Amino acid sequence: MILDLSPIANIDGKKLDIDVEIDFDNNDMGICFLKPVRVLGRMVNMGGSLELSASASTALRYTCDRCLECFEREFECSFDEVLKKEDTRLEDENPDAIYFQGNSLDIDDIVLNNIIVSLPLKSLCSEECKGLCPKCGQNLNLEQCKCDTRVSDPRFDVLDKFFE
Ligand SMILES: [Zn+2]
Ligand SMILES: [Zn+2]
Repeated sequence: MILDLSPIANIDGKKLDIDVEIDFDNNDMGICFLKPVRVLGRMVNMGGSLELSASASTALRYTCDRCLECFEREFECSFDEVLKKEDTRLEDENPDAIYFQGNSLDIDDIVLNNIIVSLPLKSLCSEECKGLCPKCGQNLNLEQCKCDTRVSDPRFDVLDKFFE
C-alpha cells in the first residue's frame, strides 16, 4: 500500500489520517492471514520527520503449540515509527528512523514487521489445552487415552515394594 505523503510532507504540524486495508495473502513469513489487515492511524509532520502512530487488526490462523490443531483468532497490535526523508540521512542519521524517498511511502513492510514482532511467542488454542499424549499422540482435549504417563520415580518404586 503506497501512501501519498505530499499533502503533509512539507508542512510542519500537518496531519494525515490513515485508514487502509492491506492484503498479505502471499507473504513468505509463514503467517496465515484470514482477512486483509486494517491499518488505522495518523501521520504527523513534526518538522524534519514524520511520526506515524497506527494500529493493525486482522484475524490469523495459528497452529497450537501443544495439540497441533489449527485455530483462528483476532489479532491487533499498535506501533509508532519515525520516518525521515532519504536526502536528510547523510546530515544526521537516526538509527531508529525509517527513510523514504520522494513523497510516497510503501507501508507494507512497516506493518508486516510490526505484526511479526507482536505475535505471541507461544500460540495455544486455549490456556487449558491438554496437548497430545506423549506415548500415543492422542489429542487429550478430545479424549483421554489409556496410556500410563505417570513418570516413574525410583523413590516411589521403593515404597511400592514396601506395600507389596
Ligand atoms: Zn491446543
Ligand atoms: Zn496415550
